[in-house]
Amino acid sequence: MRQYFAIKERHPQALLLFRMGDFYETFVDDAKTVSRILGITLTSRNNGKADDVPMAGFPHHALDSHLPKLIRAGLRVAICEQIEDASTSSGKVVDRDVVEVVTPGVSFHDQLLNPKQSNYLAALHWSGDRLGVAYIDASTGEFAVTEAPAPQLADLLQTIQPAEVILDKRRRSTLDALREQPFTITPQEDWVFGYDFAYETLLDHFETHSLKGFGVEALDVGLVAAGAALHYLQETQKGALPHIQKIRRFAGDEHIALDPQTKRNLELVATMHDGGREGSLVHILDDTQTPMGGRRLRAWLVRPLRTLDAINARQEAVAELVADRDRRDALRDTLGHMGDLERLAGKIATGRASPRDLNAVKTALQQLPAVQAHLEDAPGTTLPALRAALTPCPDLIARIEQALVDDPPAKISEGGLIRDGYDDELDELRQIASSGKEWVANLEATERERTGIPSLKVGFNKVFGYYLEITHTHTEKVPEHYIRKQTLVNSERYITPELKEYEEKILTAEEQIERLELELFNALREAIAQRTADLQDNADALARLDVLASLAAVADRHDYARPTVDDSLTLDITAGRHPVVEQTLPPGEAFIPNDTHVDPDDDQILIITGPNMAGKSVALRQVGLIVLLAQIGSFVPAEAAHVGLVDRIFTRVGASDNLAAGESTFLVEMNEAANILNNATSRSLILLDEVGRGTSTFDGLSIAWSIVEYLHERPEVAARTLFATHYHELNALAQRLDRVRNYRIQVQEHEGDIIFLRKLVPGGADHSYGIEVARMAGLPRPVIARAHEILHHLEAQDLAMDDAQQGDGAAPSGDDIPALGDEAMQMNLFGQPDPMAAELKEALAAIDPNRLTPIEALMKLSEWKAKLDA
Ligand code: ADP
Ligand code: MG
Repeated sequence: MRQYFAIKERHPQALLLFRMGDFYETFVDDAKTVSRILGITLTSRNNGKADDVPMAGFPHHALDSHLPKLIRAGLRVAICEQIEDASTSSGKVVDRDVVEVVTPGVSFHDQLLNPKQSNYLAALHWSGDRLGVAYIDASTGEFAVTEAPAPQLADLLQTIQPAEVILDKRRRSTLDALREQPFTITPQEDWVFGYDFAYETLLDHFETHSLKGFGVEALDVGLVAAGAALHYLQETQKGALPHIQKIRRFAGDEHIALDPQTKRNLELVATMHDGGREGSLVHILDDTQTPMGGRRLRAWLVRPLRTLDAINARQEAVAELVADRDRRDALRDTLGHMGDLERLAGKIATGRASPRDLNAVKTALQQLPAVQAHLEDAPGTTLPALRAALTPCPDLIARIEQALVDDPPAKISEGGLIRDGYDDELDELRQIASSGKEWVANLEATERERTGIPSLKVGFNKVFGYYLEITHTHTEKVPEHYIRKQTLVNSERYITPELKEYEEKILTAEEQIERLELELFNALREAIAQRTADLQDNADALARLDVLASLAAVADRHDYARPTVDDSLTLDITAGRHPVVEQTLPPGEAFIPNDTHVDPDDDQILIITGPNMAGKSVALRQVGLIVLLAQIGSFVPAEAAHVGLVDRIFTRVGASDNLAAGESTFLVEMNEAANILNNATSRSLILLDEVGRGTSTFDGLSIAWSIVEYLHERPEVAARTLFATHYHELNALAQRLDRVRNYRIQVQEHEGDIIFLRKLVPGGADHSYGIEVARMAGLPRPVIARAHEILHHLEAQDLAMDDAQQGDGAAPSGDDIPALGDEAMQMNLFGQPDPMAAELKEALAAIDPNRLTPIEALMKLSEWKAKLDA
């Protein structure tokens, strides 16, 4: 326990898994945590004595399944192993040490990593109003750094999407201001964030004299963050990190920063209703063939580009791959055999690769010439550049091929991984082992013959080694030189000196084979690790190719068009569709495409009205998605699209609730609206869906109204804006403001029902159709009738106030709404199971007017009238 507490003290922030023989044990508070999270029984070390210590443990082989649960619970886990052989430590406590600290942002374990998602650790550092940000993906070695004005913190974190953030513990509270923190925060001691320390850490790691070669030398603030990130990784990994080969400058302003609500509202990587991937944009768009391609696509989606050159470079490649189907198919087919070269490179460099991993690298490298061939004389600049970036490494392939057997075992310890003929010593040892075994195998036959005992058998067990087994019936025939070793119920086991001699040879040879195979394997792994940079460059080029080919395949499959992206401020979409909704409509329902034109000079703000369920939100989102797709270099779901570069996409969608964060819907809504009005520029795209819903109608309407005016009147925020609303009153704005246009989603009223036409047409809706929709939803008829009545009065009163020049925001008092009952009674006639009405109905049904004389009719009437008066 003293050893335990000493080690625990060095890792106070981590849960310590303490290896004891075949188990990982935890103690004290850690034990309670583990038992709670893993559902493992809590026991105690001293069985109820005074110094009782709570304890919980699990078998070592269960680590793979338990570790992810602990990390997902937001814990940091220190894995402490026995670092000497228990059998040689004779008497004293076995040496133990922490070999690895696994945290949400630092992990190499396949079980903890999502193949389709990068796993970033980010480090933050401030100097005055400058912010330095660095991030590392430990599994791939990706390492990047940037600097930005401090207020861009939220944007940068949104762009990077780290799993874990480290910062000076004195700055911990800075992150409290961020509304959403889907990452673990790990405060660090302040000395980690010193420039000299950070700079030295980086130089030591890269073994360079400066960082000029990486083009990051001037980023003083950023380098402190980078040094801190690297230091943290070294601390947790306890070993070299040779796969981190370079640090790259990452420019935050090359990308559109999408705030979390925009990502969520546009359902880029997860749906709003259940947070799942299915139904999100990435689900429709991801037809990548490799895990690294999948990760890259996701990264592109959440980081659309802001520079024309970069967009056009991708678009050109996508266009080529759309046009040349043969090239695309061949390329994708080859990529399908590639595997996760990027993470394999990381595993090899950090000494975690298995024999199968090395084989997978060989398989991947073997595909490269084919990939290059598929890109032969590809036009443009992007595909040729990617082709040129591939480095086939035939020498590595040859080396792996010579050394490893074709189908190596998953674990080194299983043995039999090195190919015959690769190493003389190994061949010799194998020869010895196998000839020894052959001798033993022959022994059975020769001894049977020699002794005349037909049932004589040769066997092997761990305790006695090889033995000869003879049943009791033949005991008298056993030769003199046999030495009895063990007596069983029906037989005796013997050995001979000669047999033991061979046994010794075999076992020694096997031991040496095991050692030698490990040695040879490590040498091979080391040789491949030397080429980590090549592997990473290949992986990078392949990931890009994979995404480009996937975008092309999806564009072709779903009939997307190549958008024109330029420097203008126009947004012009012909027959645009929502990429996800069009794929998920029930069979038989066709998606209705819509045109959208927005530009700051004429049609800056579109007010889109229409009843609930008409398709306003879909129309809005599809515009956002088309712009986003255009700016990742993709084709778009439309017949044609002209997208003037957008610097940010803002969305505000009603009804998204953040009650978990303790904020009311309305406050959340206003937070988001404030963010938009404070940060939009004339180059932004703003999608407002039902702003002002969370409060009273008149409040909401007033806020919505003034937001539109603000966006219209202030040139600095005069962004292209689509505003969907069920407040048809906002249509009045079009008359007052030059660049506001009214649109509505067409519906047709048919015998009181509404038929949704889903067509976006000019002109506002004249009313909200709320009551009609309520009726279709099955609200009881009296409620609907009464609602009509109230609405009628409210509108009449509203008009009266307008006439009297009193429309200064005062809400109608509702004073002259008739009380339920006066007029409502009459409506009961057929609306409700009124006993009288039922009788009347019945009587009417019984009458045949063709056979009724005028007198009879009159009499019936007076009879009923009498009943009513009674
Ligand atoms: P609103 O925001 O006006 O209440 P939504 O945009 O949420 O309505 O659309 C309601 C439903 O109508 C969507 O879930 C979708 O199934 C369908 N829909 C919307 N737009 C279209 C369209 N253009 N073509 C076909 N179906 C559509
Ligand atoms: Mg809606």
